[in-house]
Amino acid sequence: MPEYTLRIRRFDPLSGEAAYWDEHFIEMEEHNSVLDGILKVKDEKDGSIGIRCSCQQGICGSCAVRINGKPGLACNTHLEEAAHRGHGVGWNPPAPDDTSSGEGLKLPEIMVEPMGNMPVIRDLIVDMDAVHWRKIQRVTPWLINREPVPEREYIVPHANMVDVTQPMSCIQCGACVSDCLSMEIDPLFIGPAALAKAYRFVGDPRDAQHRERLFDLAEDPHGIYDCTHCFNCVDACPKGVDPMNQIMRLRRIAGTDYDIEDRNNGYRHEHAFVKNIRRNGLLHESDLLADSYGGKFNPAAGRELVSSLPTGIKGLARRKMTPKTALMHPHKAPKPVSQTFDRIEGRDQRVELNLYVSGYEDDEPADETESEERR
Ligand code: SF4
Ligand code: SF4
Repeated sequence: MPEYTLRIRRFDPLSGEAAYWDEHFIEMEEHNSVLDGILKVKDEKDGSIGIRCSCQQGICGSCAVRINGKPGLACNTHLEEAAHRGHGVGWNPPAPDDTSSGEGLKLPEIMVEPMGNMPVIRDLIVDMDAVHWRKIQRVTPWLINREPVPEREYIVPHANMVDVTQPMSCIQCGACVSDCLSMEIDPLFIGPAALAKAYRFVGDPRDAQHRERLFDLAEDPHGIYDCTHCFNCVDACPKGVDPMNQIMRLRRIAGTDYDIEDRNNGYRHEHAFVKNIRRNGLLHESDLLADSYGGKFNPAAGRELVSSLPTGIKGLARRKMTPKTALMHPHKAPKPVSQTFDRIEGRDQRVELNLYVSGYEDDEPADETESEERR
């Protein structure tokens, strides 16, 4: 049976001691989960290990931790998969009798830590109330009915329901919050899970306050324009909720459908970005700043340009740019770039991809054989 080294991050705030790594050797099947491994150690060696878990089926979301540096559900991650995590492409576990390093038998290593961006209560247990649930409450996580309330049930069109199925699949595990880069810099950022929740109601035609919700999230300096598109939440989510995509949808609806121009300049910055690429083919940073603040001659742009001078000087000193690239337009977008923009902007309707659910329950089978197979 395969053997693994399980290293668990331990911390007890009441002890006054610093956090430390607790190492155990386990012998378990490779398809057993990381949670199985932790519970085995807890049962057989040290009952004081703190871990929160419940269903052990990837449904309740309570056992989210960081495994070899990446967030995920401990019950949903096989030991063998975990042992390969964080070691990079092409890494092979050492052979069982490999002692070439001179350090004796080397086993595949699985390091388990508590999630990030949340305070640790004990060992692998983090305070979800202090961060995750507080942020969920921030986005009014319930449906606000249209008035008058219909006398019969409100039938939602199938397409709308498919559209919100993705954010509805969230199990509130907090894995996306754990690795959100924006939240690391700005702990007040509403964050991926809560903003995905917000889209769940903005995408629901029964909700009466789409505009109010969007205005609120756009105007908040820690709202939809605070996301830096790092994709960490997309990678972290065990349920394919794709929180970053839900945030981008909120932005598109706020800016394009409701013409909300936020005081944080998020909307203008996004449009300046598109204009910049359309014109230059490549991002031209010094133009971007001015465009984001209403053009070179806008007083707000002047103020921003002056305040960013130290960064510009540093860039010149480190040869990240030259006076020519900073002040002139060395690039011009090739024709296919502007053609692509024309094609996308010329569409009658915005195309939103929802790759989570496809097909309809009442799709007709393509042929007799398929119909037979279904039966
Ligand atoms: S894409 Fe945005 S919301 Fe998601 S982890 Fe990165 S910064 Fe956070
Ligand atoms: S969006 Fe995904 S990772 Fe984030 S809390 Fe929901 S299920 Fe967990």
